[in-house]
Amino acid sequence: MALSGIQIFKMMPKKNCGECGVPTCLAFAMNLAAGKAELEQCPYVSDDAKEKLASASAPPIRTVQIGAADSAVKAGGETVLYRHEKTFNNPTALGCLIQASENDKAIDGKLKAFKELKYERVGLTLRPELIAVKDGADPQRFAKVAKKASDAGASLVLMSDSVEALKAALGQVGKNRPLLYAATEANLDAISALAKEFDCPVVVKADKVGDLARLSAKLVDKGHKDIVLDSGTRKLGEALRDQVMIRRLALEKLYRPLGFPTIVFPCEMADNPVDEAIVAGTFVSKYGGIAILSDLRGELLFPLLLQRLNIFTDPQRPMTTEQGIYPINNPTEDSPVLITSNFSLTYFIVSGEVESSRIPSWLLVLNTDGLSVLTAWAAGKFVGDLIGPFVKKCGIQEKSKLKKLIIPGAAAIISGDLEEELPDWGILIGPREGAHIPAYLRQNFLK
Ligand code: SF4
Repeated sequence: MALSGIQIFKMMPKKNCGECGVPTCLAFAMNLAAGKAELEQCPYVSDDAKEKLASASAPPIRTVQIGAADSAVKAGGETVLYRHEKTFNNPTALGCLIQASENDKAIDGKLKAFKELKYERVGLTLRPELIAVKDGADPQRFAKVAKKASDAGASLVLMSDSVEALKAALGQVGKNRPLLYAATEANLDAISALAKEFDCPVVVKADKVGDLARLSAKLVDKGHKDIVLDSGTRKLGEALRDQVMIRRLALEKLYRPLGFPTIVFPCEMADNPVDEAIVAGTFVSKYGGIAILSDLRGELLFPLLLQRLNIFTDPQRPMTTEQGIYPINNPTEDSPVLITSNFSLTYFIVSGEVESSRIPSWLLVLNTDGLSVLTAWAAGKFVGDLIGPFVKKCGIQEKSKLKKLIIPGAAAIISGDLEEELPDWGILIGPREGAHIPAYLRQNFLK
């Protein structure tokens, strides 16, 4: 049972040294009780207290790693119900189902899609992470398909009712730490033994959340730490209700048997790809740790990946690009200079458009604390008396003798101030929209 802040405080060193990031041991104990701090943050807790506090201070939802090395993916580790309270941590891992009974051509097609469907966005690579391989009637075929999927670089979910089939597949891919699906009332002991033998995370499945908690507690008693929860239902409304219930009980009541990430199966909850993507999107928002799709189609996967990026981006920390000078298309001292803000999305759009213009250019990125150009201007962070000193000190004067500075059209109002700040420079007002940059550069700087 979870300990209260006061109970935890009684076991703390009471030095009030502040090394844990809060000024007093009492404040730290309260944070521990609320799952907002980790015991390791205090270097002075005694071993005895550590043992007693270990479960009380464990994160309310455990982070479970599936897979090994570079392809490993994490699920869980969430600490808030709503993204705006802090941030969501581990994006819903997206996977594709392969039935071992499918023919080789279909399987190869899915693995090809898995490898090829990757998208660069704001400096990140967006892609699916998992392949769920489901047993047919032939354990050897199951093992062979699992090996093929593992060789394609996927972390795996191995799905079978047969312990023998799972064992055969683990013989091929066990060292890659696949997620075993699933321990149920009927086979819990056997699956538990297998998961321990191969040191794998394991899904526990039941038809009701109460039964799920009971079985999960049994696995914990057997020494399992890496557990994933499947509440059984394949009806969207019921599954969403279960996700919310599990998340609330784990976070608000610190109910340990449900303090694990979940797995959901949009592939079994819709009868056409569009509906399936909508179902998957529902669980990206609330609160699927892993979502398995029936297939990977770019036109449905890309919006899902973008939705996931939006939901799992820290709302308190805008994505930023480092302030500095970015050469694009091999600029020389006769090349123009553009300036923009350090909001990542702005930077990637502007740099992409400059690149596609093929005009050699220098791009200056000013630190605006991650605000876009217009917002930064409104906040006084993209204005003449900040841009002027930046241009003088950043080193661009040594690189560009042309001395033409192109400012975003949206910030045209600062041109007068900039002319005063940078009397040696020609201040040019560029387009308002990034998409118009290539035409603008070609029109004005094509030699
Ligand atoms: Fe107390 Fe430990 Fe925090 Fe120091 S680091 S204030 S001893 S909890």
